[in-house]
Amino acid sequence: MGKLLAEDTRRHHRSLILQHLFAEGPASRADLARATGLTRVTVSDLVGGLLADGLLSELGTPAESKVGKPPTLVGLLADAAHIVALDLSPADRMIGAVVNLFGQVKARADVSLDGANGEEAVRLAVGLAERLREAAGAPVLGVGVGTPGVVDGRGVILDAHNLHWAGVDLTGILRRKLDLPVYVANDANTAVLAEYAFGGTTAADLMLLRIGIGVGAGLVVGGALVQGHAWAAGEIGHVVVDSGGERCACGKVGCLETILSAPHLRDGLRHGGRPLGSVGTVLGGVLAPVVAALNLHEVVLAGPPDLLDGELRLALDRCVRDRVMAASSADLVVRMSPLGDDVVLVGAAVLVLSGELGVS
Ligand SMILES: [Zn+2]
Repeated sequence: MGKLLAEDTRRHHRSLILQHLFAEGPASRADLARATGLTRVTVSDLVGGLLADGLLSELGTPAESKVGKPPTLVGLLADAAHIVALDLSPADRMIGAVVNLFGQVKARADVSLDGANGEEAVRLAVGLAERLREAAGAPVLGVGVGTPGVVDGRGVILDAHNLHWAGVDLTGILRRKLDLPVYVANDANTAVLAEYAFGGTTAADLMLLRIGIGVGAGLVVGGALVQGHAWAAGEIGHVVVDSGGERCACGKVGCLETILSAPHLRDGLRHGGRPLGSVGTVLGGVLAPVVAALNLHEVVLAGPPDLLDGELRLALDRCVRDRVMAASSADLVVRMSPLGDDVVLVGAAVLVLSGELGVS
């Protein structure tokens, strides 16, 4: 028991150091001691271990150092380890990448679904992960997966209807086949983690809305992912916004998804349907109470920029501001994600970084 606790403490201290280096860049051992509150001796010991593991390297001394023995900086090595990341959310294929510790994509692969679902789709995902592991140019830290559907805390996919998955333990299957740590989460949840870690934001309270074949949201509040008591936080795509509207795949009529999904937006443009500005206003009506209830700092849109980054975003921004009190919207930012189509892949890598190294 004592030994286990000591191991836990060491792991926690190690992640404090990695966390600081991720967020702030290279630092001296003295900087790290100040920032983490650990003693110099503990920091030197932990940094020694991280250097031996190849995660850090010595970077020499800062140019502006004053008289006396200048401190040596240590920093993370971006390619010390690679991560296999999968995005299972596109309609017709599964896409994957090898991602380094800085969230940069180093290699890509994908596989066409050709109508596959159920066990066959599981086999395709395993095959794709195996191919990417071969393509990695460094030891693989783990496998991260962003999947459509509701995923529980153990990484079991409870329900992803387009892949005909219910109760699929993709985490366990991948772990057994690849013998690596595996993390599986909902695609919108992985996307908001990517935004939080690598989107260049300082906000700790944000919602990311992912608009593709479906509509989903991921929420980070107080710097932590919100998952909900039944793991379905962020599932706003099936909130009814037009009770006289179209029947949705979920069985209800007039869900947000039936006007906001990318295919519906494109259809509307082509056939003179609901204008993008009007969709933005409907979305604003759905999001305003959420922004007000949680005092969100940012609402981030991820999806096709030609559909989202114009009238729709502006109308959404206007509508939310109109409907909430000034204190709620004073610092509100409504913007596009800079991570583009890679947002889920990068988020899948963040799952592994956070699970294996304690950084996020
Ligand atoms: Zn629905």
